[in-house]
Amino acid sequence: MTRQRLYRTPAVILKRMDLGEADRIVTLFSRDEGKVRAVAKGVRRTTSRSAGHLEPFTLSDVLLAVGRELDVVSQADTLDAFREIRENLDLTTHAFYLTELVDLLTEDRSENRAVYDILLEGLRSLRASTDARLVLITFHLQLLEALGYRPELRECVNCRALIEPDRNHFSALLGGVVCPSCGPAEPTAHAIGTSALKLLRFVQATAGQRSVNAAPHIGREAEALLRDYAEHIIERRLRTPALMARIQEVGP
Ligand SMILES: [Zn+2]
Repeated sequence: MTRQRLYRTPAVILKRMDLGEADRIVTLFSRDEGKVRAVAKGVRRTTSRSAGHLEPFTLSDVLLAVGRELDVVSQADTLDAFREIRENLDLTTHAFYLTELVDLLTEDRSENRAVYDILLEGLRSLRASTDARLVLITFHLQLLEALGYRPELRECVNCRALIEPDRNHFSALLGGVVCPSCGPAEPTAHAIGTSALKLLRFVQATAGQRSVNAAPHIGREAEALLRDYAEHIIERRLRTPALMARIQEVGP
């Protein structure tokens, strides 16, 4: 008889999906193994012990058994349910957004302690903050940086000129700001206001450690820009495997 390998790790639950009559597949971002999808057996039965510990954006201590395809949750205990977030619909929506972004931007089984820390810090900031949008902006910038997609906000991504407070653009395709001379020739670039750019630069430079007051419309603009950029990265990542498959079909 072979012994099943078990491992224990703290993890944030990213999402869950029903499977069969009583099971669920949970996606979690663990401290030690990165993103893991695992089967939670019998978790939808009323008698289940682990059900409450596997809810989205809960921080749990999980014991997992390595499976052939998916791992299996052997045990789960809540470390932090983020109750204050759960009791507030607006904060709950924000927390779902954080977990969705991590889910879409990361690969399975790619250990990344920085991402784990950023996600946890994001949820803790959300609970404590009076400005959820600023938490989102900070989280976005830190997550993108940890995954190698730090947006360039100081130099034009096309000609490397220093960016001045002027009629600048932002290109998700090029991953940063485009100066007024290059902007019109860059079809994928959108105008970015000087205040929104300043806000992004400030948060990027201070890693969100210093509070900042931004008018709601400035915050909205900065957040929308980061969301566009993240969506662009996600699409590019999703397209690459399909493209590779097509190239392989055609052959050399
Ligand atoms: Zn330029």
